[in-house]
Amino acid sequence: MSPTPDAADQLLRFVDASPTPFHVCRTVAADLEAAGWSRLDEREPWPTEAGRHYVVRGGSLVAWSSTDVATDAFRVVGAHTDSPNLRFKQHHDVGTDAAAVVALEPYGGPLLDTWFDRDLGVSGRVVLRDGGERLVSIDEPVLRVPHLAIHLDEDRKGRDIDPQRHLNAVWGVEPREFLVWLCEREGLARPDVLGFELMAHVIQPSARVGAAGDLVAAPRLDNQATCFAGLQALLAADAIDGIRPMLVLFDHEEVGSTSERGAQSDLLTTVLERIVLASGGSRDDYHRAIAASMCASGDMAHATHPNYEDRHESLHHIALGGGPVLKVNQNLRYASESRGAAAFALACERAGVPLQRYVHRADLPCGSTIGPQSAARTGMITVDVGAPQLAMHSAREVMAAVDIDLYTRALTAFFSPQGPLPG
Ligand code: ZN
Repeated sequence: MSPTPDAADQLLRFVDASPTPFHVCRTVAADLEAAGWSRLDEREPWPTEAGRHYVVRGGSLVAWSSTDVATDAFRVVGAHTDSPNLRFKQHHDVGTDAAAVVALEPYGGPLLDTWFDRDLGVSGRVVLRDGGERLVSIDEPVLRVPHLAIHLDEDRKGRDIDPQRHLNAVWGVEPREFLVWLCEREGLARPDVLGFELMAHVIQPSARVGAAGDLVAAPRLDNQATCFAGLQALLAADAIDGIRPMLVLFDHEEVGSTSERGAQSDLLTTVLERIVLASGGSRDDYHRAIAASMCASGDMAHATHPNYEDRHESLHHIALGGGPVLKVNQNLRYASESRGAAAFALACERAGVPLQRYVHRADLPCGSTIGPQSAARTGMITVDVGAPQLAMHSAREVMAAVDIDLYTRALTAFFSPQGPLPG
């Protein structure tokens, strides 16, 4: 039994349409275009009049709604498009008599055991001889990473997983070249494929689960749930005088963000500066606009795990369905400081949603987000926020359906600040 379609059902469709960072950008771009946003090319001059625009750089995207005033503040919601998974090595056809096998390796920090014995599709980007590129998404059970049988395990306790030896996937009986098959399948000539970023994805459709359908099980909730909520918030944000709402979705967060399109790149600062310059502003106007701006870095948060309560800080339990989460870390693994925290608390209050406050146990290593890196790059006050989930970095994660709506409402209010806390 499922409740009527709502934001959570829309999220399921969003995730299933977006197996890779490139596809996240395509899914977001399609929704932006449908709502009147138009794409700009970084190689071209940008329009001088105010408008709603976006740019895509590989697996990253920035979308904004501009004004005529060069010094107007930006309100930014940031997230990441990438999720830990298994990716193809450049030479991946493994010679074996027993089966067709492709060599895969981890991207980021997946919970490796969750990728075994699942039906996996193939997705990613291929770049062609003529400079064109093609996004690939095969939602069919092509790949399978098989577990070792319990009878072949000395102590029958399960084995440590070696990322070099144990993650290769079988994809048939007869050994053959994987790219030859892929090209046949996609109508491409094999000699024309000169570059590729290919990966495996879980093809089991995302679903409402739980007896009342009040949970969501899906791959890549970290961090596509924020990409989705941030997009809905941007589309719903009220136009406020003096504020330019912006959504920035970065690739490569799971591997440190250092690339031409990650949070450590010049993507965000370049786009911000070009918006100010295109609206007739000066370099000084750019710095004035940044000084008045603020960023909410959205990334998923750890709900308190019912089987591992001791892994959580006892005064900071986080409930599934309990609403958005403010994330604070004294070692700045999260960027939150008190002005940003106050602004987000105010946004939640105005949206009428509860706010939960998360602190990681001081004796466990805390993960990070795009927040500290984009804060350092831009100089904007930044607050790290998220929505609660379980099983982060599993091939299939879980969150509460109601949190999608609560999170979206909080981010929508953040985009349209009213009151004395602009930054
Ligand atoms: Zn994340």
